[in-house]
Amino acid sequence: MPLSKQLARKYFNEFFQNHSTGRHLTPNKRVALCVPISGGRFQYITAVSGSYYEPSVTQETMDAFHAMLKKHNVQKLTNHDPINCAEAHLWLRLVDMSQLPRHLDVYVAKKQTGKPRAKRDSPCRNCQQWARQEFHSLNQV
Ligand SMILES: [Zn+2]
Repeated sequence: MPLSKQLARKYFNEFFQNHSTGRHLTPNKRVALCVPISGGRFQYITAVSGSYYEPSVTQETMDAFHAMLKKHNVQKLTNHDPINCAEAHLWLRLVDMSQLPRHLDVYVAKKQTGKPRAKRDSPCRNCQQWARQEFHSLNQV
């Protein structure tokens, strides 16, 4: 069940408020967010773009990620590697937690300059090649 845009925005704004002093979370960073199906200890799961934010996952998860990119014949079409996107980091975290990405509605946003609030953003040319097929849906806020 997709979140309302209002609730997705609320989660993003909360995330940006909690991370407003992080020196790495600059406005050019993208954030991907979803609500896990089995709940557990997370109300929502987030992932941030950039190599600094690459999640630490098992080799099995990493192999599955590369197999997934290969399946969609993903080419590097930007100046960053496909793995350095928020969507990719979220996929890795989910698979590592045994959550199926295809069951989850994912939201993406950037941080507004100077404000801990979400700004509309869309997937990059790397992610456009795989993210809509891999997640249940990919949404802007
Ligand atoms: Zn991307």
